[in-house]
Amino acid sequence: MTSHDPQILPPSLPSLTGADGEGTVRADFPILARQVYNRPLVYLDNAATTQKPRCVIDAMTDEYLNVNANVHRGVHYLSQQATDLHEQARETVRRFINARSTAEIVFTRGTTESINLVAATFCQACVGDGDEIIVTEMEHHSNIVPWQLQQARKDIRLRVCPITADGRLDLDALGHLFTSRTRLLACTAVSNVLGTVNPIRDIIAMAHAHGVPVLVDAAQAAPHMVLDVQALDCDFLAFSGHKVYGPTGIGVLYGKETWLDRLPPYMGGGEMIGKVTFERTTFNVLPYKFEAGTPDYVATTGLARAIDYVSAIGLDAIAAYEHALGAYAYERLMQIPGMHIYGPGPSPVISFNVAQPRSAAGRQPALIHHLDLGTLVDHLGIAVRTGHHCAEPLMRRLGVEGTVRASFALYNTRAEVDALAAAIDRVITMF
Ligand code: PLP
Repeated sequence: MTSHDPQILPPSLPSLTGADGEGTVRADFPILARQVYNRPLVYLDNAATTQKPRCVIDAMTDEYLNVNANVHRGVHYLSQQATDLHEQARETVRRFINARSTAEIVFTRGTTESINLVAATFCQACVGDGDEIIVTEMEHHSNIVPWQLQQARKDIRLRVCPITADGRLDLDALGHLFTSRTRLLACTAVSNVLGTVNPIRDIIAMAHAHGVPVLVDAAQAAPHMVLDVQALDCDFLAFSGHKVYGPTGIGVLYGKETWLDRLPPYMGGGEMIGKVTFERTTFNVLPYKFEAGTPDYVATTGLARAIDYVSAIGLDAIAAYEHALGAYAYERLMQIPGMHIYGPGPSPVISFNVAQPRSAAGRQPALIHHLDLGTLVDHLGIAVRTGHHCAEPLMRRLGVEGTVRASFALYNTRAEVDALAAAIDRVITMF
C-alpha cells in the first residue's frame, strides 16, 4: 500500500462546529492563522498545552480592562463584580465535572499543584510510617515526585503498578499491590505518552473494594472526554486549565467534601483563615481553607469561558472527532518505513520513534534521534514534542531515552496529519 492509498482513509471525520455554531472551529483560534518559518503553523503539541479560543482571550482582556479588583475582600462595586465572576467560574467547573458542591472545587495553579496539595496534606493527616501509596509506571513526574517528597517526612513506601507490553496498566498486578498498609492509589486517567485510556472507573472500584481512596490525574483526560466525578466515585481529581483551551496558571483540585474536611490546610495566608491571633488560628470553610492568598481570578474567568466553549461544542462530539483523527494519524504514520509507535493503539496522543533507513545489516536499526526528528519537522512548520515527556520511568520501561509525540486537539485536521507524515518522510531522506 502506498502512503497515499485512499483505502487507508477512515470515513470522513465527524464535523465540528465552533461555539457559535458556524463553520469550523479553527477560526475561533487566532494563533492558528500564523506562520512559522514562512509556513502555516501545524500545531501538534496539544498534550503540552492547547491554544486559546478568542472568547477566552476576550473574556480575560475584558476583565482586566473593566472589572479588575481583588476578590472576596472589598465592599466596593468592582470587587463584588470580580468576586461574582470568580465564584461563577467555580460553579462552571463544578458543573463541568459534576461535583456535588462548589465546596469540593479548589482552585490551584494546575495539576501539579493539585497533586502536591493532596500529597502533602494527605500524607500529613492519613499516612503513617510503613504505609504505602500506589502509583503506576505510566505516571507523569507530577504524580510521582510529590509522593517521593513526602518520604523525607515519613517512612512511606511507593508501590508501582507495572504496564503490559502493549502499554496498558497491568490490572492483575495492580490487584496484588493492595495491602493492609495501602493508604491511597494515585493514577492517571490517560497517559500523556502512550495515549492509553485507563479503565479508571473499574480501577477506582477495585481500590474502593480494598478500602483505598483514589486520586485521578485528569490532566490528559479533561480535554478529551466527559468527566463525572460522582459517576467515577473518585476521591480526588486534578486537571489544568491550559490543557482544556483555558489560560495557564490555573488548575482544579476536586476532592470529596469528607476528604477535604479531614485534610489540614496546605499553605497559610490570607483568605484561608477564620480567625488569627498570635496564639492560635482557625481556618476558613471549604474550599477557601485550601486557597491561601489572592487567587488568579482573571484566569478563573478564562477557564470558565474555555469550559463554556468546549461544552457548547460537546465533549462527546470532541471525543468522536479526535478519535477519528487519531485513528487516521495512526494509520498514516504506520505506513512510514521504520516507524515505531508506542502504546496500545489509536488515540489523540501518539508517541513514536523512527529507525534510520541505512542501519548496518544484521544490527538493531539505530533510531533517528527524537530531538533531531522534532527539530527538523519544526523547520517544516510542524510543532511536536520530543524528549521524555516528564515520564522518565516510563521511558526506561519502553527502553528509550525519549520519543517524538504528536498530540491532537479539536482544531487539528487530516491535512495537518498528512503534513506531519510528509515532513517525517522528508526527514528520513536526510539520514
Ligand atoms: N499529569 C499529566 C498526565 C500531564 O500530562 C501533565 C502535563 O503535561 C501534568 C500532570 C502536569 O500538568 P501541569 O504542568 O499543567 O501542572
